[in-house]
Amino acid sequence: MKPVYLDNNATTAVAPEVLDVMLPYFKDLYGNPSSMHTFGGQLHRQVEEARAKVAALIGADPEEIIFTSCGTESDNTAIMSAVELQPGKRHIVTTRVEHPAVLSFCRHLARKGHRVTYLPVDHLGRLDRDAFRKTVDDETAVVSVMYANNETGVIFPVAELGQVLRERKVLFHIDAVQAVGKLPLNVKELPVDMLSLSGHKLHAVKGVGVLYVRRGTRFSPYIIGGHQEHGRRAGTENVASIIGLGKACEIARAHLREEEDRVSRLRDRLEQTLLAHCPDTQINGDPTSRLPNTTNLSFRYVEGEAILLRLNEHGICASSGSACTSGSLEPSHVLRAMGIPFTAIHGSIRFSLSRYTSEADIDTVIKVMPPIIRELRALSPYGREAIGQL
Ligand code: PLP
Repeated sequence: MKPVYLDNNATTAVAPEVLDVMLPYFKDLYGNPSSMHTFGGQLHRQVEEARAKVAALIGADPEEIIFTSCGTESDNTAIMSAVELQPGKRHIVTTRVEHPAVLSFCRHLARKGHRVTYLPVDHLGRLDRDAFRKTVDDETAVVSVMYANNETGVIFPVAELGQVLRERKVLFHIDAVQAVGKLPLNVKELPVDMLSLSGHKLHAVKGVGVLYVRRGTRFSPYIIGGHQEHGRRAGTENVASIIGLGKACEIARAHLREEEDRVSRLRDRLEQTLLAHCPDTQINGDPTSRLPNTTNLSFRYVEGEAILLRLNEHGICASSGSACTSGSLEPSHVLRAMGIPFTAIHGSIRFSLSRYTSEADIDTVIKVMPPIIRELRALSPYGREAIGQL
């Protein structure tokens, strides 16, 4: 049975067109792009074409694109580079709702003696702008903030933050892993110095990412070795995945506007119908500034894990909190930072859509979800209390 896949913020299906362009590089075109001979050397040109396609999606110049192994590597590299190049500046600013790719790395640097400020958010997941302005000081080496949150979809005002940082001459990195391919984004108009993206969130494969570094920004590589990527990221290129990522970016760029509209209409229909048919349900995150594909809903008096298991029986894939933290029963750090009550955090479910999500997928969820919630509430003492049956 084909799943109803609504967990696209965890990872996306590889587009068939992406797989097609990759396959020759696993078979006949296995050369090394750094080789002198034509067999390997010809791959260099293909990698450069992919670089140009990635650059076009975010409005960058191709030479500002560094291929990495994933979004996590891009995030780590950006922060590390800023810190290494400014040994006199020991302060890093980030937020409480970042992905572990940033949050855990900042905690690691804190253990090594850096001062890290984790900015708070309000009950809708919005950044505290005043706290942001006050926290940046002469010791700040870098500010690393996500463009859009993976759990709630909430979008941070990165253009505004970047403007402040430009005036203060502080390096600005954004984790745009969840934004690229979902929102129009142009680094020519966005005052950011570095930006991370990840292939598997936009229908390319896992294990390839990008760090954009604005021309003129000083940069120190994290992975050191050969001369690949102009000495900015050593290691023989992951040619097939890079070429696949180029294709994925080309497709995303061609369909961005229409998909943004279509997917947000599907998401809104799903959300509004569930809110109407499941009492004691709330949206988590600012509904006026969110990714078009994401909804995070709390169904009070039920366990998110129980909902997921029941959805799974119907072939529906969703997530309770972040994919990277599921598997542990720790309540989501994002929802906690927003001050969402524990009863609501425990019943939170994230649905995340993609360009492969159909009307029929949404119909299926709308049909099965209200009875699931009713049944689970009837089973739980809290639920029975809430619906007046005790
Ligand atoms: N940043 C954000 C916002 C993410 O959602 C993710 C993955 O979920 C990452 C970084 C890490 O990307 P990758 O899985 O490519 O390492």
